[in-house]
Amino acid sequence: MLEKSLNWIRPVIKKIHAYQVADASGLIKLDAMENPYQLSDGLKAKLQVKLSVADLNRYPDSSAKSLREKLSQVMKVPADKSIVLGNGSDELIQMLAMAVADHDKDVCLMSFDPGFVMYKMIADFSGVEYVGVPLREDFSLDMEKTRVAIKQKKPAIIFIAYPNNPSANCYNKNEIEEIISIAPGMVVLDEAYHPFAQDSYMDRLTDFDNLLVMRTVSKMGLAGLRLGLLCGHSDIINEINKIRLPYNINVLTQVAAEFVLDNVNELDQQAKAICDEREKLLTTMRDIPKLEVFPSQANFILFRVLEKNVNDVFDDIKQKGVLIKNMKTDAGLLKNCLRVTIGTPDENRMFVDVLTSTMSD
Ligand code: PMP
Repeated sequence: MLEKSLNWIRPVIKKIHAYQVADASGLIKLDAMENPYQLSDGLKAKLQVKLSVADLNRYPDSSAKSLREKLSQVMKVPADKSIVLGNGSDELIQMLAMAVADHDKDVCLMSFDPGFVMYKMIADFSGVEYVGVPLREDFSLDMEKTRVAIKQKKPAIIFIAYPNNPSANCYNKNEIEEIISIAPGMVVLDEAYHPFAQDSYMDRLTDFDNLLVMRTVSKMGLAGLRLGLLCGHSDIINEINKIRLPYNINVLTQVAAEFVLDNVNELDQQAKAICDEREKLLTTMRDIPKLEVFPSQANFILFRVLEKNVNDVFDDIKQKGVLIKNMKTDAGLLKNCLRVTIGTPDENRMFVDVLTSTMSD
């Protein structure tokens, strides 16, 4: 009987490994690029009042008009550009894939590897081809390979994470502009880590009709709300918006996000504190022997373990109470690499102590 049901599941779905979220109970959680800070008690108290009068009995405003206007103002979206909201930017990637997936023609999504895993995962379950153009050793773009891949594959959408996850670097701007110019379709600049980078393509939306800029409030300190935005030419955004399920941004998220965005200074200060901590952590980690530490413009640091078994190092750090991310590849650019999210000063100190003792064992 069960077979009858399972036979209908597409082979491509059966092959996919579900996205793994590690259990962090009892551990210092430095694995998921979250902001380690809570809102101040003052803001929390005011937010509670707002939430207590939210109309939970009603469906949310389907178009989340007021929230979109607030986001447009805070994120400096050019006035003539439109916004569509997602339940996290993951959902926006899914909407984009659904908008281009077509049974009757070969459609391809392109990005760069190593990169954000959801681009490939969503391409796979949407039934479109994924092409990951390999980055160079230093995680910069390989323009020769990129030009060839664009010419051969004619990608409907090219995703460029800026800064990139997991390598934490921003790519060369001239090279990005060339990609936008030669792309046969849309180019999505995924600025999930914008609060920690000094740069953005938001103001370039006016220069390129095929450019879309994607942001999220997750890394700013509101990961629990699940809210992402895609900005660009209204003709494109209107099409993507047709795929959006009517009430994808719930009442509590709309109320909370709008309230916190009215007080965004607090999150900006947290982002600044995280950037300061990142610089300190980079310096400290570079002094620990047998590590190769990569530069970062995001709220995490990628590093390679030399002369030791990376899985043993990861397990030992976890055993000592800190959860980071094991990139789990024994070949390629992420070979022997681990990724740590910037935490509070105390959490980072703890991580450094644990890492130092593990590396000297
Ligand atoms: N883009 C990149 C590059 C990411 O690293 C992430 C999350 N890790 C996302 C998008 C998704 O963010 P969210 O769904 O929380 O908005």
